[in-house]
Amino acid sequence: MRAGDVLLSFDLDLLAQRARSVLTPVIVTADSGCEIRKRNLDCAVAVGEWLMEIVAQQAPAAAGSPADVTAITPAARRLTVGFEHGIHARPAALLAASLRPLAADVRLLARGRQANARSTVALMSLGVRHGDEIEIRATGPDAENALDALTAVFAAHESPPARAGTASYRELTAQDARQPAASSGASAVASGTLRGVVASPGLAVGPALQLRRPEIGVRERSLGVPEENAALDRARSEVRARLERRALGGATGDGARGAATEIAAAHLELLDDPELVASARTEIAAGRSAGFAWRAAVRASAATLESLADARLRERVDDLLDLETQVLLALAGNPVGAATTVPEHAIVLARELLPSQLIALDGARVAGIGMAAGGATSHAAILAAAMGIPALVALGNEVLAVPDGTEVVLDAANGVLEIAPGESRLVSARARVAASAVQRAALAAAAQRECRTADGTRIEVLANIGSVAEAQAALRNGAEGCGLLRTEFLFLDRQSPPSEAEQTAEYLKIAEVLGARPLTIRTLDAGGDKPIAYLPLPKEENPALGLRGVRTSLAWPQLLRTQLRAVLAVRGPAQCRLLLPMISEVEEIETVRTMLAEIQRELGRADALSVGVMIETPAAALLAERIAAVADFLSIGTNDLTQYTLAMDRGHPQLAARLDALHPAVLRLIARTAEGARAHGRHVAVCGGLASEPLAAPLLVGLGVHELSAVPALIPQLKARIASLSLSDCRSLAVEALAQPNATAVRALAAAVPRAAEARS
Ligand code: PEP
Ligand code: MG
Repeated sequence: MRAGDVLLSFDLDLLAQRARSVLTPVIVTADSGCEIRKRNLDCAVAVGEWLMEIVAQQAPAAAGSPADVTAITPAARRLTVGFEHGIHARPAALLAASLRPLAADVRLLARGRQANARSTVALMSLGVRHGDEIEIRATGPDAENALDALTAVFAAHESPPARAGTASYRELTAQDARQPAASSGASAVASGTLRGVVASPGLAVGPALQLRRPEIGVRERSLGVPEENAALDRARSEVRARLERRALGGATGDGARGAATEIAAAHLELLDDPELVASARTEIAAGRSAGFAWRAAVRASAATLESLADARLRERVDDLLDLETQVLLALAGNPVGAATTVPEHAIVLARELLPSQLIALDGARVAGIGMAAGGATSHAAILAAAMGIPALVALGNEVLAVPDGTEVVLDAANGVLEIAPGESRLVSARARVAASAVQRAALAAAAQRECRTADGTRIEVLANIGSVAEAQAALRNGAEGCGLLRTEFLFLDRQSPPSEAEQTAEYLKIAEVLGARPLTIRTLDAGGDKPIAYLPLPKEENPALGLRGVRTSLAWPQLLRTQLRAVLAVRGPAQCRLLLPMISEVEEIETVRTMLAEIQRELGRADALSVGVMIETPAAALLAERIAAVADFLSIGTNDLTQYTLAMDRGHPQLAARLDALHPAVLRLIARTAEGARAHGRHVAVCGGLASEPLAAPLLVGLGVHELSAVPALIPQLKARIASLSLSDCRSLAVEALAQPNATAVRALAAAVPRAAEARS
């Protein structure tokens, strides 16, 4: 069948006259080999209008010869999706990217539909959620490799339902931002007051400034297929170049740089999405202009995403529309990115602010943001939170009728926009803005100070990071350095290992951000739940019990040598330390030390590099005293220590609630580790997820831990919690905790400890 052929025809009039109601289901069955690619939803469709597009996926299997069946039978694999939020933008981009070097046609089947696995947009459109079962089918010479590549991405990013402290920085930002009014609806409740949803908390007062999306006229008529294709390519490369510059981190102020970088990376994926580009090319081939074709392709994908039940995916529509604008502006020869001039303390109002519009604003002059539509986890919302600008979304269209210059109060604590509320309210709101600025500064300043218990015992609070952007976020939150740099970020999602020069450059960038603060570089922790595509790791019955962490590094010594050389090249003010993951016996440490000494000799370097050991296995905890004799410091990885102590897979969804690092058995191993460290006067840290739980902090301190390395966003709370208790309080708590029968009892005990200092902050 060709595009435009009649699929169904019937005499509607005749039917309507004979039937009491007319309903015409059009059913495309899952096993028909066809799929609905696009459809017209939620609107009346006139006779002759476009209804839907159905595409044939593959030739139906010919009955008969088994050889024929084999030829078209794809390689297939079934998996359960472990991505915390299902296949949303980032996982979809990772899955699509993993297939780039492979020659295979790969489809992902879920929820009764299928999608081209190379297309971020198509993958997102499936609406796959955490725990969904999916099937991957691949055909072509690299079919098996494609299955392996996708399986590796799924395995590497599995996450159990997050407990506080295990979520990433960006997710915490979004969740924090959503807190106060997540359940509130959208529309105005009284004249002069509009209710919305908090996207970035805070209070702001100032004059309204309506920011409208640029109206871009697009002609439909084509100037010729080659000309229009060339124009589209030119415009896309212009936008690509700009996004690449932004992805490298140069386009915004400090506060938002990390978020802007991530957003640019997401836009880059969409810009080259094969389905989106193919759909635009089809329109061009059908006689449309490049602009018309691009708009049609983007709008069709946006309509599919908008029809999904998953709010996170619906919010990615913003990104698509932003990209539509950027390409259309480039086609029209208008640059985007020029800063928009705004009056001081402006409250910017818009239907839906695009991330690129927000980046183009002068952040220092914007006091608040109010959007008629949008969601709390949209990229514009995340960016506003990263820029520290209070923002409300879903205020309803009434907000667009507020005249420019009207004084408004944006209360993004209670989810309310007050329009021209009267002088006394304006005065009191301005006073509160000034007071909370002082308060915020105090909290930030407190977090910037050294952390001590109420009676003055020094506890270091550092950050777990995996990128330059996270290092910046860590310092903003008062981190006293980096207690764990997960170097996997350099090794994953690529087809060959990073060179020494590349690693050195990345470590140096992070060291520069941290200045003189400690930088703890963990050697590659591959294997187990972090498979690496280019390492021929054997197929293992139990990967978590197989070649992982230091075992992988010792099995590929050249990989470790390169990494050690790169770490040794990090000179300058940073206090660089090395950390070895998954140690289970003393000999492993000695082997690495010997290799390190050889490399130092080769490089003519005599300076000592501090070598720490992660305590992640019960064996290491029980041998802590022996290990401490040969290590410079110990760092407890409670994520793995808990999984191996409780014999519960850290990625197992049904066991997630019971996989609690506050289990008394884990606490006893932590106590044993601290004792072992003490015997040799060694520093002992905790860098697993437990270190990011303010509830657990006093307990860890009481058990003898000197350092916590945590998720950046939680550092101010951790510091306040530690400052609220004396060392003897912490010790008594620890003694009691060790005697509890289970993790629930330990949690109850820790929760009962007064939180005086936290309440004050
Ligand atoms: C841990 O196991 O606690 C740890 C910090 O390492 P990772 O989570 O990277 O395995
Ligand atoms: Mg670990």
